[in-house]
Amino acid sequence: MKIEEIINKMTLEDKIALCSGESFWETKKYEKYGIPSLFMCDGPHGLRKQERENGADMLGVNESRQSTCFPAEVTTASSWDDELLTEIGHAIGEEAKDQGVGLVLGPGANIKRNPLCGRNFEYFSEDPYLAGKLAAGFIRGVEAEEIGTSLKHFAANSQEKCRFNSNSIMDERTMREIYLSAFEIAVKEGKPSTVMCAYPKLNGIHCSDNKELLDTILRKEWGFDGMVVTDWGAMNDRMEGFRAGCDLNMPGGSEYMEKAVARAVKDGTLSEDAVNESARRVLKLVFRANETLKSKPSCDYEKHHETARKAAEQGAVLLKNEDGILPFSHSQRLAVIGSMAKNIRYQGAGSSHINPQKLSQPLDYLPGTEFAMGCNDHGDTDEAMIEEAVRVAENADAVVVFAGLPDRFESEGFDRYNMKLPQGHVRMIEEVARTNKNTVVVLLSGCVVECNWADSVKAILYMGLPGQAGGEAIANLLYGKVNPCGKLAETWWSSYEDVPSSKIYGKTKDAVYEEGIYIGYRYCEKAGKKVRFPFGYGLSYTEFLYSDLEVTDHIVNVKVTNTGNVAGAEIVQMYIAAPQDGIHRPARELKGFKKVWLKPGESADVSFGLNERSFAIWDDGWKMQEGTYKVCIGRLSTKINAAGENIPLPAWQAGSFYDTCKGKPTRNEWEAMSGMTSIPEKLVKGQFTMDNTVEEMKDFSLIMKIMYKAVEKTIKKGFGGKADYENPDFRMMMASSAGSPLRSMQISGGMKGGIMSGLLEMANGHFFRGIGRMMKGE
Ligand code: BGC
Repeated sequence: MKIEEIINKMTLEDKIALCSGESFWETKKYEKYGIPSLFMCDGPHGLRKQERENGADMLGVNESRQSTCFPAEVTTASSWDDELLTEIGHAIGEEAKDQGVGLVLGPGANIKRNPLCGRNFEYFSEDPYLAGKLAAGFIRGVEAEEIGTSLKHFAANSQEKCRFNSNSIMDERTMREIYLSAFEIAVKEGKPSTVMCAYPKLNGIHCSDNKELLDTILRKEWGFDGMVVTDWGAMNDRMEGFRAGCDLNMPGGSEYMEKAVARAVKDGTLSEDAVNESARRVLKLVFRANETLKSKPSCDYEKHHETARKAAEQGAVLLKNEDGILPFSHSQRLAVIGSMAKNIRYQGAGSSHINPQKLSQPLDYLPGTEFAMGCNDHGDTDEAMIEEAVRVAENADAVVVFAGLPDRFESEGFDRYNMKLPQGHVRMIEEVARTNKNTVVVLLSGCVVECNWADSVKAILYMGLPGQAGGEAIANLLYGKVNPCGKLAETWWSSYEDVPSSKIYGKTKDAVYEEGIYIGYRYCEKAGKKVRFPFGYGLSYTEFLYSDLEVTDHIVNVKVTNTGNVAGAEIVQMYIAAPQDGIHRPARELKGFKKVWLKPGESADVSFGLNERSFAIWDDGWKMQEGTYKVCIGRLSTKINAAGENIPLPAWQAGSFYDTCKGKPTRNEWEAMSGMTSIPEKLVKGQFTMDNTVEEMKDFSLIMKIMYKAVEKTIKKGFGGKADYENPDFRMMMASSAGSPLRSMQISGGMKGGIMSGLLEMANGHFFRGIGRMMKGE
C-alpha cells in the first residue's frame, strides 16, 4: 500500500500514536494498515542493540549484542579522512542489517566548545567545517547500505551539566558560523534520513518545539527532507513539536501527550496536516528500513575488526618524537608500564557504549617486553607499584607508559571537573621518565588533558579512544609498521585557565556562549596564546615539503613532497585568513583539507576549490566582506582579492574582547555584541514547571526530597547498596533520572498522564490539586 493511501485510511489517533515510540527502541506496528515497526539503536561508533529481554536503557548500562566497536569520534576525527568515515559507516550499516536494525543513532556533530564536556569523545571537533565533513562521510557510508542515520544532537548541545533542561544562549552569528555549520554541511552533503533534536533549549526554546531551528533552518534553508526524532525524552510540548516538524517522539510512553494532541486537532488548535506530515515521514523511514531488512546479506565481523584497526591507526596523533625515538626496532629491550596496557581504555561511557565482538589489549601485541602495572585501573598508584615500575624501567632500552583517563573521569551525563590526568598517572610518568630517559607515553583519553609532564618524556602518541582493535594499532604504530598521520581536531591547551569559556563553562544551568565565535584555535591564534599542541598538529615518521602554492580562478593548487625515508600520509589543510581591519574575524579558518599518501621522494599536486562560504560571515545572512584575504597552506600563503560588500563595523567592536581576544569576555561585552541579556533562572516554589527536575526541587519540597531518595535507593541496588558517585554509571543514572525534567521522567518511565503533573502541583505546594490531577490523569 502506498504511504498516501495508508495516511488516508488511518484514524487521527493512530497517526498521532505512530509518531511516538512503541518501546525504548521501536516504532509502532499496525497490522491493520500493513505498517511494520522499525528498530533503532545507538550509534555512533558501532551498534548497541539491546534485546528486549535484557532491558533497554539510554545509558549503555544493560547488556547489548556484540558488534564491532570502532574508534570513538575523538579518534576518527584526527584522521581527517571522510572516506575512512564512509568505510566505517558501510561496516556499521552491514552490521545493522545483520542485527535487524533500521536506524543507527549517530553521528554526533556537536561542537567541542570546552574541553571539559563529558561527551566530547563522541563528537568530532572544535571546527565546524571538519566536524561537518566527517559527519557527512559517516552518513554516506551507512545510508549507502539503505540504513538510516540520525545526525545528533541538533543543536548547540555542548555541555552535559543540566543537559536535559539547560538553555544554550548565543548570538546569531555564533550560532550560524560555529554551532550550526557542522550540521549544515552534514545535512547537505551527507543527506541523513533523520536528525535528532537535542535536549536543551536554544535561546529559550526547546529544540523539540523550535520551529525556527527544525523548519525554517533545517528544512527550508538546508533542504532536509527526512524525519526529525527527539533525543530520548527530549519532547517538551507535543503540539509545538508537531508544528515545528518534530516527527517522532522517543522513546515510547507518552500516551498522555497523544491524547492532548488529538483534542487539539479536534478543536482546531492544531492542524491535522502537521500530524499527517510527520506520519508520512515516519512511514517513509519505516518502509525503507523494512525493505532493506528483508534480505540478510552476510556480514564479515573479522573484516570490520580490520577496519577498526585501520581507523585507530589513521586517527593516532604523534604529538612528540624527540631524537626520532619512535619507531622502535624489534631488537630494543622495551618495558611497558601502566594498567591500561593490559586493560585498555578504548571507548567512552554512556549511550554509545558497545559490547565489542573482540578486544585487543596492547600488551598482547608487545611480546617480549617486561611489564609493570604502575597504577590500578582507577588511576591510583602507591609506593609498591611505583617501585616496581621504576625497577622494570631501569633495565630497559626504552619504556612505554600507558596513561590517560579511566572511565570515571569522563562520561556522558556529566562534565569533567578539570583537565588533569589522574594523579597516579602523572606520578607514574614522572617517576619512570626520571629513571629512563627514553620514555614514550601512549595516551588514551576521549578529550584534551593537561600535559605538564610533556617535557620530561621523549615521545607522546595520542590514541584517543581507539576502539576494539586499539591494542594492535598501538603496536603497529610504535614499531613503525604503520606511519602515524593523524592531526589534532581540537586545541590542546596548556592549562584549563587558557580556555576562553573556562570562567563560565558548566558553572550554571544555562550556558551563555559569551566567547562567541572564539573557541579553540579561533581564539588562541587571535589572542596569540601559546598552547601545548595546536589544532591541526601531528607528526609523522617522515617529512613533507610544501611548494608551488598558487590560486587561479578560485582553484588553489599546492605541491606536497615526501622528503623523508618512509612512506606516509599527509593531511593538507587550507585556511583562509580574512582581513583584520573590518568586522571582527578569527585570524584564519579551516576551509579545506585533503589527505595524500606519498612514497619517499614522491610528490602530489593537491587542489581545493574556493566558494563564497570560504570567505563569508553571518551578518543577517551569509555575506562576503570585500578585501584581500590570504590562502594559507602549511607555512605558505598567497593573497587573493575577494569582491563583496562592505560590512559596517559595529559600534561596540573597537577594543572589545571580540576585537582583540585579550583576556576573557565580560558579560557587558557579550550583551553589547549579541544585543541579548540573560537572566539566570531562579528556583521558586510555586513556579516550578514540568521542565524542572527532582534534583532541582528537592530542597524546596518534601515530596521531591522523598522522590530523590527513592530514586537514589533504586539505583543504589544495582551498585551493591552504595551511593557510588565515583562510578560513572551511578552518576550518569542519577543525572538521567533525578536530573531529568518531570516531563522526560514521565515519558521515559512510560507513566500514565497526571502522575508527574500531580507531583508537580504538590511540589508547588498544592497537595490536593495534585491528587486531583492524578485522579483525572492529566
Ligand atoms: C543520548 C543520545 C542517544 C539516546 C538513546 C540519549 O540520552 O543523548 O545520544 O542516542 O540517549 O540511547
